[in-house]
Amino acid sequence: MSYRRRDESIPIQPDQDMPIVDCHAHFPDREPYRKPTHSYDSQYESFFEKHNGQFIITSSSVYNHEYQYHLDFIKEHKGIYLTMGCLKPSDRYGMDAVMEEHPDFIDFLENQQDSYVGIGEFGLDFHHGKSLSIRQEQIDYFQKVIQETKHLNKPYVLHVRNATQRDIDHKNPNHEFNQRDFCNKVIVRILEEEGVKPESVQWHCFSGPAEWGPKLAKMGYFISVPSSAYGFNRWRRNIQGVPLDKLLTETDSCFQHPFKMGGFNTPANVKYAVAAIAYVNKMDQLDVAEQIVDNAKKFFDIK
Ligand SMILES: [Zn+2]
Repeated sequence: MSYRRRDESIPIQPDQDMPIVDCHAHFPDREPYRKPTHSYDSQYESFFEKHNGQFIITSSSVYNHEYQYHLDFIKEHKGIYLTMGCLKPSDRYGMDAVMEEHPDFIDFLENQQDSYVGIGEFGLDFHHGKSLSIRQEQIDYFQKVIQETKHLNKPYVLHVRNATQRDIDHKNPNHEFNQRDFCNKVIVRILEEEGVKPESVQWHCFSGPAEWGPKLAKMGYFISVPSSAYGFNRWRRNIQGVPLDKLLTETDSCFQHPFKMGGFNTPANVKYAVAAIAYVNKMDQLDVAEQIVDNAKKFFDIK
């Protein structure tokens, strides 16, 4: 039996001239998971010259060679800023492997403060970590990084993926780690314990559950909306009731393409996230875009 998936794209086109910011991308990506359909230079040009692109925040996963690769690109391309992230322990790579990959991550953040504008992406991922011990390692490592970097006063870019029904730890099916919002809860608890200001935290590609959108915004956190919110209702659901002054936009390039079966995502597609926000709030796209640019500049302290 075959069936067609419903097209969930919204019925408006993004404005071409509105100012746009991409607050989280892997751009350029040293080892993209699929081959780029056009060069990074032409993607850059499209963002800044064909569109009214303001700036791009690119996120490194802190392999040391990735850092240098990004720095070199940034030196030659104005308007791109770097956030420095780290690996998370997962079922494939335990804590030992993470430490082996970047044993000096914290020192590095301390010593290279002028070269980056935020810390992340990092956080919890209970889809890629399903066992009790790995999940606990993720939580401990998250808390350690926060503890040892909070004095730097850099904004955080968080990756938070709660366990879904498919991610249940079958050896411990009744454990609280399996709850659909456990990661959200423990992250908020740790950030509060460590005294991190919610205004300096971006929930990148915020994936819900939906009732957490307005809840986090009310606490002061920033919810970051991916370009895929244009074509997928489940992303739009998560921003219902989130006030505009708590939203950021991103592409997570080359992931999170605005359309189902979409290809290689690029920063210019962040306009689709703006269109989705405008649609959900029944607002003018230009008004949304201007507010998001303002939010992003303040968040990353970009002049
Ligand atoms: Zn990412």
